[in-house]
Amino acid sequence: MKKPQIVILLGSPGAGKGTQAELLSDKLNLYYLETSKLIEATVMKAKEGESIEVEGKEYSLTEEKKLWLAGVLCSPPFVSFLVKQKLNQLAEEGKGIVMAGSPRTLPEGKDQVPLLKKLYGAENIKVVLIELTPEQTIWRNSHRRICDLMRHPILYAEETEKLTHCPLDGSKLIKREGLDEPETIKVRLKEYKERTLPLVGYFTEEGLKVEKVNGEQSVEAVHQDILKSL
Ligand SMILES: [Zn+2]
Repeated sequence: MKKPQIVILLGSPGAGKGTQAELLSDKLNLYYLETSKLIEATVMKAKEGESIEVEGKEYSLTEEKKLWLAGVLCSPPFVSFLVKQKLNQLAEEGKGIVMAGSPRTLPEGKDQVPLLKKLYGAENIKVVLIELTPEQTIWRNSHRRICDLMRHPILYAEETEKLTHCPLDGSKLIKREGLDEPETIKVRLKEYKERTLPLVGYFTEEGLKVEKVNGEQSVEAVHQDILKSL
C-alpha cells in the first residue's frame, strides 16, 4: 500500500498558505492541519491560570494567549506539543496531511521532523516555500478578512472586494482583531525572517525536498505550481 504523504507549506503571513492548504486538502484528500487554529482554539478557550506541562515545564495558557494576541509566536515547546499530539492521532488514522504554519521555528522543526519521518518516511514528506516580497506581505495582510463563524480566510481580490458574508457558510466577514494591524504585521514579518526561514536549510540537511513557488500569482496559478512541484 502506498504510504500517505505529508506536504509542509512555508511562507510569510499572507502568502496564501491557508488557501493553498485548503485547495490541496480537497485535491489530494489530505487532512489540513492548521496550527494557528489549533493554537487559537486552545488559548481562546483556556481558563485563567490553566497550564500545560511539556517535558517537565509548565506553560501558562494565559501567557500563550497574550503572545498569540500580540502577533508574537507562542512558545515553541507548547506549539510542538499540540502539533505532535495531533500528528500521532492522524498517523494512526492513516491520513495524509497538509501542514500550513507548522513547523514555524527551528526548534519546532527539530522536534517535529524526526516524528514525521518516523510516522511517514522522509520520501513521503514534501516542503513547498511560497515566496512573497515584504511589500506584498504587508499589503495583503492589511486587506485580509475572515468569517465570523468558521474563520475561513478571505484573501483580498477583485472578486472578494465587495463581499460582506462568507460564501461557504453565510456568516459575517470581519477583520481579525489585533493580528492584521500594520504594526503587528511588521512584527510577524520580522519573526518570519528570523525564526521561520532558517527551517529551509534544516529541511534540506534532513534530506527533505524543498520546492519554491512564486506566491505573487493568482491563487489558481500558485495551486498549479504547487501540484507540479509535488
Ligand atoms: Zn466561513
